Formats: sequence, C-alpha cells, structure tokens
Amino acid sequence: MDLTNILNTIFQLLKEYTSNFFISNTKKYHFYADHYKNREVALLTQHGKESVLAPTLKESIGCIVTTVEGYDTDLLGTFSRDIPRAGTQIETARKKAHIGMELARLPLGIASEGAFGPDPFTGMFSWNVEILIWIDNENDLEIVAMSQGKTNLANVLTTNWKEAEAFAKKAGFPEHHLMVRPEGEDDPRIRKGICEWDDLHAAFVWGQEQSENGSVFIETDMRAHANPTRMNNIRLAAEELANKLSSLCPACGAPGYWVIERVAGLKCKRCGQPTRDTRADVYSCSKCAHQATIERTEAYADPGHCDYCNP
Ligand SMILES: [Zn+2]
Ligand SMILES: [Zn+2]
Repeated sequence: MDLTNILNTIFQLLKEYTSNFFISNTKKYHFYADHYKNREVALLTQHGKESVLAPTLKESIGCIVTTVEGYDTDLLGTFSRDIPRAGTQIETARKKAHIGMELARLPLGIASEGAFGPDPFTGMFSWNVEILIWIDNENDLEIVAMSQGKTNLANVLTTNWKEAEAFAKKAGFPEHHLMVRPEGEDDPRIRKGICEWDDLHAAFVWGQEQSENGSVFIETDMRAHANPTRMNNIRLAAEELANKLSSLCPACGAPGYWVIERVAGLKCKRCGQPTRDTRADVYSCSKCAHQATIERTEAYADPGHCDYCNP
C-alpha cells in the first residue's frame, strides 16, 4: 500500500464516519412509505382538476383529495384576462392551498397553478408550465412539483367564418374548448367553454352582431376542464408530486427527497471523453440539510452526444 492508497482509505473512513454521525444526529420524522394513506387533503375546486389529481394521488400515496367549495379561485387570476394575475405561480398556488386548508380545517392541502407563454427554447411555440404544491402543516413541509410542455394557446381576430373554422380545427376544437368575444381581445362581452361546432357558429354570429366592426375575437379556453392538453400536464405534475412524496430522506425520514441538480459528464462510449449527458443526480432533502450524489446506472453516453465524436 503506497501513501496515496493509505490516505484514500483514511479519507473514505472519515467520510463514512462523518455521514453516519450526521445521520444519527438529525431529528427523525415519523414517516414511512404510506404516511399519507387515507389522510384527507384539501383542494379548492378548480375547474375539474380533482379528476386527475385525486386518482393519481390515491393510487400512489393513498391519500384522499377532498374538494372544498365556497371560494372562487378565479379571484386569484384567470387566463381570459378578466382578472389580472398577481404574484408568482408558486405564491398563487400556496395561497390557494392555504385557503382550501382553512375552509376544510385540514392540516394537509394541495393546489395547482398554470402559466402560459412562449416556449423557453425557441420562443416560437406556446408553452404551459403547471405547478403543484403540497403543504403539510403538521410537519411544516412544502413540496413543489412541475410539468411543462407545448400547448395550443392561440387566438384569432376575424370577420370570416371559414377562417374561424380553420383556427378552431388547428386549436384542437371541439376537444379543446374556445371562447368568443365581439370586436377584440379586451371586450368584456364573452362566451366561454364552447365545445360544439353548432355553438361555435352561433357564438360567431352573435359576436358579429354585437361587433361595431364585424370582427370576432376567438381564443383557446385554457381552463383545465376545457383543455385536455393542459389537464394532461397537470396529471404529469401530480405523478411527479407522488414520486417526490414517496421518496423519503435517508437521514431524517421526511418525504420530498429529490433531485435538485444533474451532474453532466457521462463518458462517451467511443472515445471516453466526458459528454454533456447526465452522469449523476444530486438529491436533497426538503427538510434537513442532507444531500447525496447518486451515480446513474448508465455506464456510457451515446457517441452521438459527444462533442469530440460528433462535433
Ligand atoms: Zn466521443
Ligand atoms: Zn432530511
């Protein structure tokens, strides 16, 4: 054994000792895999989101999503621009969750909040970011999950039914609902939740009659129950949330032990140089300071992802 080996061994022993010391000195939470089983979780009724949230969470962690009536979530902002949106997405979700928990008098709450804009890569497509927040007041925990993807957010101002019809087809109507206004995008007169061709035509005729200039403004209805693409994104966020809630911290036992950073550098299968592919994930606890870097199981990256082999 040369000096380097000896030093390495000492270093490894020290590392093990300190991590054990850390683990044994962290307050343990009384969590186990089915901690939330049969527990009630408050959700303000939000445009039918419970139809994807309740079954996903029931199946994965066994909790019961209890919908709470008596509060109009549109007061916190809508997509039809009737009420201006305030605060960031997470803040709005947190506020919704707290209102639901107060109304239902439950220590557990969940809320969802969506945002729309241009895609972050090219700026050419409409993009949807869905946030889900889980609040556990008993354990002072807050866990956030997210899903994002392309969406059908679009609008058209037209005097022509054929053009309106073509727009509707492109927007995924009638599965994806539409909204109609006379004149332009800021007109307060509105018909929402249109989901049949006859109704769309009738709304178009109504819009033209109401309009001074003969123009009708048609746009996608982005409320969850009116938009299956968005609803699917909410379901994907619910799956991520369920995975996070099922992942317990090895040090303190709290749920929400999850990836906060990806480490690039997986070696190229052909030349052995590090690539930008993920080599390892850094997991971090939502509650204590515990972190660990876990190597991925893949040994090598596809040479197609290598800057040397495929510049
Ligand atoms: Zn290579
Ligand atoms: Zn922890």
